[in-house]
Amino acid sequence: MKVDFSRNFIGGQWLDPVEGATMPVYEPATGKAFGEIADSSQADVDLAVGAARRAFDDGAWGRTTATERGRMLTRLGDLILSNAPELSAIEARDTGKPKSVADADIVALARYFEFYGGAADKLHGEVIPYLGGYHVGVLNEPHGVTGHILPWNYPAQMFGRTLAPALAVGNATVLKPAEDACATSLRLVELAAEAGFPEGAINIVTGKGHVAGAALAAHHGVDFMSFTGSPEVGQIIQKLCADHYITCTLELGGKSPHVVFADADLEAAIPVIVKAIVQNSGQTCSAGSRVLVERAIYDTFAALLADAFSKVRVGAPEMDLDCGPIITAKQQGRVQGFIDRARADGIEVIAQGQIADGVASDGYFVRPTVFGHVPRDNAIAYEEVFGPVLTVLPFEDEADAVRLANSTEYGLVAAVWTRDGARQMRLVKKIRSGQVFVNCYGAGAGIELPFGGAGKSGHGREKGFAALHDFSKTKTMVINHG
Ligand code: NAP
Ligand code: MG
Repeated sequence: MKVDFSRNFIGGQWLDPVEGATMPVYEPATGKAFGEIADSSQADVDLAVGAARRAFDDGAWGRTTATERGRMLTRLGDLILSNAPELSAIEARDTGKPKSVADADIVALARYFEFYGGAADKLHGEVIPYLGGYHVGVLNEPHGVTGHILPWNYPAQMFGRTLAPALAVGNATVLKPAEDACATSLRLVELAAEAGFPEGAINIVTGKGHVAGAALAAHHGVDFMSFTGSPEVGQIIQKLCADHYITCTLELGGKSPHVVFADADLEAAIPVIVKAIVQNSGQTCSAGSRVLVERAIYDTFAALLADAFSKVRVGAPEMDLDCGPIITAKQQGRVQGFIDRARADGIEVIAQGQIADGVASDGYFVRPTVFGHVPRDNAIAYEEVFGPVLTVLPFEDEADAVRLANSTEYGLVAAVWTRDGARQMRLVKKIRSGQVFVNCYGAGAGIELPFGGAGKSGHGREKGFAALHDFSKTKTMVINHG
């Protein structure tokens, strides 16, 4: 691996952190440190924002055409694919993901650059008929310098999801990846330089959230923020943005339901439901973490689910099983705490997956667990666990299903399982959620599909053309030509 972990990439150069501090990064599958990263301070963020500002205002990046930007993005997509084995290995080591999951993440990452590479010169303005003697045009312009704070769960995909649309529109970007998983981003900025992105278009500053991240969101040189992570930090980011009158997108996770009616095709539903919670060890903002089942089929459903779930296997990346470790010892403790409290509350365990023999004893492993007949007022029924923990709750009828689906503060993704077409449509309309799937879940990485939340899941839209709008602003031009 060529990655230089311990420096920031600013203005096209690898720079040591100004105060010289570094911090270790750990391998989740072994608990061992495998490198040092820059523990950046306000001074490093100042340098990165300054480099982005110069690139946008006076540099080669600010002079690029949309077509040129599209070509750079497309070239980066190609380079990601041709370096996929190396990138996947870095990602799997840094996050503990099973190998095939990391491989799929790198393909999705490339898709972001392919999609927005093609879209870059297709964001057109409009002409509005107005008073006689006037010509009115609406232009789409980049915000300027955009700040991006990333989580640790899908570091490679997130790099593409947030940067590709921002760059397609022409923003100059500053990225603060999560301290617990930033290695892939550090390699990707090298590939971006190879793809032709000029200095200052992409800057990366690693370090602690409450230091480097907060300095970025509070920086008066930043014109727009994109944040993915916890609701608590999302609120901090929004307040920091408000202090200097900028807006942000917040993608804050969820407690996404599967609503399973008695007429559903259970054979099709069960494997999808299992995958939607064990994939990435449940550390997915859009994980399907609640199953709401019509009471008439509850027992049949629970038996089929238990059978499938008890086959789930957990292991190290190279074992390539269903599930890997949790990202850090801290998160492992948090997830295990949810499981232990639910057990102590007497909630029935329907099934558990197995941790494979031969995993390192210091790895951050948790046994995937399904709880049944979960009381609606127990924390595990409505709080995001962010681990491989599934709760099953019965409902009485359609009205009760809607009430239960909408009963958490979140609203990111939902699925409805029924063969009744009219019911499908009613549920899609009534569920409070950024995406609703019918007889499927997730539908692939969904790069083309607008994505984002309501309530505690956040606001703003990423993916699809929607992201190009969020990463740009309109300017209305009124010309009096007499
Ligand atoms: P987090 O603290 O919200 O971290 C997300 C990002 O925000 C990281 O880059 C983090 O930096 C940064 N950050 C932390 N404090 C900050 C601050 N005061 N100002 C600016 N940036 C700051 O999330 P976490 O602690 O890693 O995970 C906790 C919970 O968040 C999880 O259990 C899960 O519920 C949720 N989560 C959701 C998603 C999602 O996709 N929606 C992703 C991850 C986590 P550092 O980590 O580098 O310090
Ligand atoms: Mg790591």
